[in-house]
Amino acid sequence: MNEQSKASVAADRAFTGQHVLVTGASRGIGWSIAQAFAARGATLSLAGRDAALLEQRRAALNTSGASNHTAFSADLADAEAATAMVRHAVAAHGPVDILVNNAGYGASQPFAKMTAEHWNQMLGINLSGVFHVTRAAIDGMLPRKSGRIINIASTAGLTGYAYVAAYVAAKHGVVGLTRALAREYATAGITVNAVCPGYVDTDMTATTIETIVRKTGRSAEAARAELAKSNPQGRLIQPEEVADAVLWLAGAGAASVTGQCIAIAGGEVMP
Ligand code: NAP
Repeated sequence: MNEQSKASVAADRAFTGQHVLVTGASRGIGWSIAQAFAARGATLSLAGRDAALLEQRRAALNTSGASNHTAFSADLADAEAATAMVRHAVAAHGPVDILVNNAGYGASQPFAKMTAEHWNQMLGINLSGVFHVTRAAIDGMLPRKSGRIINIASTAGLTGYAYVAAYVAAKHGVVGLTRALAREYATAGITVNAVCPGYVDTDMTATTIETIVRKTGRSAEAARAELAKSNPQGRLIQPEEVADAVLWLAGAGAASVTGQCIAIAGGEVMP
């Protein structure tokens, strides 16, 4: 085996034995992140609400006899359900080494028509969910002085967008939480970072396209092109590109990177 092959095998097994908890792991960005860690030897806890889909994903990852990934269904906006989910994950695989807070959902409402229900829903999953899961998982990181927390925020955590005030407020909250925890745990061996994608080619963006079509009468192709135009590279981001950034932040080489919010958006925002 030449040196290059040896290096790539080492990289492929970089997370062997590590317990990685990915929320929103059943679809889109979270599923891509889960697959990337599993391919590199990690043991996955997959969390989301749709138990049947999570079970399919778990089965797809557990193809090798050596793998032992587990799925947990919970509404993470609910404090008790989120805390119980982390407890079950820790019981199955030990303390969480790497936490990826990815579960989230964006919906639009003009501010003058915004209901408290919409506001609470956006804050509930996109911000409080991150708090509930992190609060429960960090207890296992502190005594070992080791942990990686990676929050999937959004460019909506770095700048404003019209008609999605609650989502933008929630994602700015995730960025604030990321920065505060990075400082609080700087000497505790725990890094806390955020990844901030622009429009990614997932179900969530498909729903945004449907909404634009419904509200404006434009074609799906025109709506998709308009979203792609918000990225100076003129395209939607692929979920694998977000997963690559997460892998890097979780790896040994990123030990001194903390409190950072990395935009994966083709230059749309430059924080
Ligand atoms: P997606 O394809 O719609 O997947 C969302 C995931 O989150 C699913 O696994 C979903 O599973 C889970 N989820 C949603 N609400 C939940 C809840 N209350 N409790 C537990 N799990 C929940 O979305 P995505 O595009 O991959 O987005 C993933 C993350 O990236 C989100 O935080 C989103 O805000 C962020 N993001 C997305 C984009 C984009 O353009 N797509 C851009 C920037 C940031 P269940 O439905 O089964 O619960």
